Amino acid sequence: MYMVTLNEEKCTGCDSCAAGCPAQILAFDGEHAVIKGDPCDCMGCEACVMVCPAGAFTVQEL
Ligand code: SF4
Ligand code: SF4
Repeated sequence: MYMVTLNEEKCTGCDSCAAGCPAQILAFDGEHAVIKGDPCDCMGCEACVMVCPAGAFTVQEL
């Protein structure tokens, strides 16, 4: 089981992450990325970690 954390203060709003999340728990609110679902539905793929230029995501294995 994995959990994703988003540091919204780091997010620069590039909108690169939400579409690539296979768990569909990331969204873009027009200014910043947001976690729209249960952070524990994260599949641990780290696509968001790799694509984010701001280092805003952390993925933990629980
Ligand atoms: S690690 Fe993968 S499944 Fe988890 S939030 Fe990031 S893109 Fe989505
Ligand atoms: S990839 Fe990073 S900087 Fe870009 S919208 Fe997502 S969280 Fe924000």
